[in-house]
Amino acid sequence: MSSSDKTFCKYFYHSLMLTPYSEVRPCCRFDTNIYDESFVWDGESKLTDFYQSDLFAGLRKDMEEGKPIKGCHRCYQEEELNIPSMRTKPFPIDISDLEDKDFSFRFVELGVGKKCNLKCRSCNASFSTKWIGDAEALKMPYSGDNSEIDLNSIPIQFFKETKSIKVTGGEPFLHNSFSELLNRLNESGYSKEIELEIFTNTTVFPNEDVIESLLSFKHLQISSSIDGVDKVNTYLRHPIRWEKYLETIRKWRRLEIHNPNVDIFLVNTVSIYNIMHTFKFIDWAYDYYYPQQPDIIFQIVHDPSYMNVARFPEDVKFGILDHFFDESHRVYSKWRLSPILEKRLKQLKKLIHSKAENSGVLEEFWQKTDALDRLRKESFKDVFPELNSLLRRKPT
Ligand code: SF4
Ligand code: SF4
Repeated sequence: MSSSDKTFCKYFYHSLMLTPYSEVRPCCRFDTNIYDESFVWDGESKLTDFYQSDLFAGLRKDMEEGKPIKGCHRCYQEEELNIPSMRTKPFPIDISDLEDKDFSFRFVELGVGKKCNLKCRSCNASFSTKWIGDAEALKMPYSGDNSEIDLNSIPIQFFKETKSIKVTGGEPFLHNSFSELLNRLNESGYSKEIELEIFTNTTVFPNEDVIESLLSFKHLQISSSIDGVDKVNTYLRHPIRWEKYLETIRKWRRLEIHNPNVDIFLVNTVSIYNIMHTFKFIDWAYDYYYPQQPDIIFQIVHDPSYMNVARFPEDVKFGILDHFFDESHRVYSKWRLSPILEKRLKQLKKLIHSKAENSGVLEEFWQKTDALDRLRKESFKDVFPELNSLLRRKPT
């Protein structure tokens, strides 16, 4: 194994990510916060030129020489735990015709802007405009302002070799220039070659014109964010109402049923808050999809770090695993889970077992939870009674 095998990553050549506040990165997991340099694209120079500037050239050079890239620490951390990282997993699309170092934007991730109507606990004001009031009240720093990214400043030829686009926000369907981009991709004919994945908070169902553009893509995956059932979802994805989620997911389901190139995935962001709710969520999803099976993906929260399950003390983790054991018996006796979901559940258990630096995590958890509860007039202990007793909170 050469030294670069431990650092080399194809995302630096065949992928580009634009964040909702105009930062450019090789992928969604790359951490720019630990750099002094700015990764912000001005929106005027060519996006491709910015990606080949000295900043990125330096990172590529280090990586090729086997030097660890500090912005890639999330992948390295997973690899140390023997969990497949984004770097070590197969690239999400076919690149067999490319040399390792060929520049070709086969995989593009677009954070189309931070306009959003929710303020999820796992999110922050760098990604959601709805979060800004709370962030300012709590003096939490954030990046970017309220302005939207004008996706019309990206020439359509940029997507000429693109095979896959992943879209995040904010809430993508609240952005006009995103709808216009879909239209431009449809009219250019590029959409026929592109697999499109959109992360949506499932509060907005687009109009007929947008649906027509969406259906022109080779494949459409709607990744519907849902962090639990009913009030658990409302607490974690404030202030979504459960009825609103059900109303919108029903429309997406109808589109999926009538169009073979459309798939809906339920994306569950797993944090300390909802880890004990996992099997209740699976139970609901299987019931909702019956007689079909839902596609469920778990997305693990690393940041904010006080929500990261791996950081919690051992006695808390034992309690979670005990609960997992009881709940899994209940759910396995009721449903035949898909093999892929079973595999994902095993990875989730690995995460609970894993160790991470944990000093001060409980104090920070309670401080942040209380502060947001007060601001939003919510009650952690009412929504998560089991976790509340497990954390054995001392009276304050
Ligand atoms: S190593 Fe991981 S974080 Fe770094 S660019 Fe590759 S996929 Fe992204
Ligand atoms: S819906 Fe997405 S962008 Fe909006 S607050 Fe939630 S995670 Fe952030």
